[in-house]
Amino acid sequence: MTVIDEVLTANEIYSRTHELRKLTPRPERKLAILMCMDTRLSIRMLGLKEGDAHIIRNAGGIVTDDAVRSLVISHYLLGTEEFMVINHTDCGLMHTTEQDLLTMVQNRAGTAAVAPAFFYAFQNIEENVRHQLQKLRTHPWIPQKVVVRGFVYDVTTGRLREIDL
Ligand SMILES: [Zn+2]
Repeated sequence: MTVIDEVLTANEIYSRTHELRKLTPRPERKLAILMCMDTRLSIRMLGLKEGDAHIIRNAGGIVTDDAVRSLVISHYLLGTEEFMVINHTDCGLMHTTEQDLLTMVQNRAGTAAVAPAFFYAFQNIEENVRHQLQKLRTHPWIPQKVVVRGFVYDVTTGRLREIDL
């Protein structure tokens, strides 16, 4: 049995009660969060429950075109008014460089590829968060009235630290 098979079994059990049926697609607390996909990050550390917020995740918690696309939809179609960007200590993208990543993947895959063009590796986490905030705050489709704030989550202490621009 693969893990996906196990997940399908669990879903069969879940569907008997389907507790999330009552949720609406609009985040109840009008919040959208862009954060790393790291397993150590969760809505639990933010005191949120399902239905409270949009959670947009990718490697690093990077403001990519696709993350912007999701945030724009989140605000315009689904009414969110505050955006949080969360990077974290000990992120995999901090332990490497753009070139090392590219070389490693190309060597293991045995071929080059056109996309993705960037992995968004970074060295300085505060600088990286500021860079993400700048991309959002200067984007013409993200209105000034939308609150945009950035944070570093410490995976050792469980605390969030705000990063000012
Ligand atoms: Zn990470």
